[in-house]
Amino acid sequence: MTNPLKIAIRGAGVAGLWQALTLARRGHGVAIVERSVEPFVDACSPYAGAMLAPRCEEESAEAVIRELGTRGIALWQATYPDLMTHGSLVVAAPRDRSLLDRFARMTQEPTRLDGSALAALEPGLAPRFGSALYYEDEAHVNPNTALSFLLRAVQEAGVQVHFGVGDMPQGADIVIDCRGLAAKDALPTLRGVRGERILVGAPEIAIQRPVRLLHPRFPLYLVPWGNGLFMVGATAIERDDAGPVTLRSALELLSAAYVLDPAFGEAEILALGAGVRPAFPDNRPRIIPAKGYIYVNGLYRHGFLLAPVLAEMVADFLETGAADPEVFLADPAQR
Ligand SMILES: Cc1cc2nc3c(=O)[nH]c(=O)nc-3n(C[C@H](O)[C@H](O)[C@H](O)COP(=O)(O)OP(=O)(O)OC[C@H]3O[C@@H](n4cnc5c(N)ncnc54)[C@H](O)[C@@H]3O)c2cc1C
Repeated sequence: MTNPLKIAIRGAGVAGLWQALTLARRGHGVAIVERSVEPFVDACSPYAGAMLAPRCEEESAEAVIRELGTRGIALWQATYPDLMTHGSLVVAAPRDRSLLDRFARMTQEPTRLDGSALAALEPGLAPRFGSALYYEDEAHVNPNTALSFLLRAVQEAGVQVHFGVGDMPQGADIVIDCRGLAAKDALPTLRGVRGERILVGAPEIAIQRPVRLLHPRFPLYLVPWGNGLFMVGATAIERDDAGPVTLRSALELLSAAYVLDPAFGEAEILALGAGVRPAFPDNRPRIIPAKGYIYVNGLYRHGFLLAPVLAEMVADFLETGAADPEVFLADPAQR
């Protein structure tokens, strides 16, 4: 390894935690400063699905997300024991069959399931959806469990984590800025994309894998987090406030769950909430080096998927100067 560096990381969301873990495991001296007094209370990260779905995301994201995301899943697999690896499904009502065909065209080689193949995977869905697309190698995590795991892992790796500290850290060789949307003060084109989601408890429902329900007006998804807990998400609204969920969004989210399986009619609503995704105008993540400082931001819908990969890239850059031009991009405002 190269000479160990003294590194300060600003922000303990999924990006900051993966960054800290990766650098500490490579032998660097790492400290995190996090503005909130309690872990995760001001972060976008706990609102995520958190699907690791590089192939499905290609429907609306550039190919680079799929390419990096495949590596992201491998890094989670090597690190996190509770990774759920059941793949993911995409379904549409029979009248919206053209949406399913379009989704298949926009993504790479999904497996097409007929009714009986779908019944073998998810018996509860088969009566309403005669077919589905299946992306076998995708995965997901419960974000709360995964964030707690990462926080413990960084502490066990020797990282000092200071909560309630929002000021610029002093005395480090390099500062890595993982402040999410708060870095808007330095990255003027960063914007917030609000995502609302609802958590429901339905212990009698046995759906195992994330299911995307295509719909002409509000495409939504359901993510099973285990033990009867489901996340129904998510809206994508061009606003950067994390205020309460609107009635319209709640209706849309709850109807999606009900359409997938009417047994959700008996589910308990456990939480409604909104997070704000940090995004650049092109929705691509960026690593932006400056003097003594590196920004890691714009993780948009892909923070869980991409955080481990960006963390590796930053570590490689610090140690060897390697900088993948797909990700080491200028802030669009500075071009
Ligand atoms: C509804 C929803 C669903 C999503 N689903 C998925 C999904 O299925 N898969 C996926 O991969 N991604 C998903 N995402 C996206 C993902 O959650 C984000 O990309 C990710 O959380 C961004 O992480 P971050 O660490 O950059 O920012 P954050 O999680 O916001 O963390 C930034 C941290 O910096 C701290 N901070 C701010 N200012 C300072 C300061 N001055 N000093 C120190 N600390 C500071 C904040 O308090 C915060 O803790 C979803 C997002 C939403 C909202």
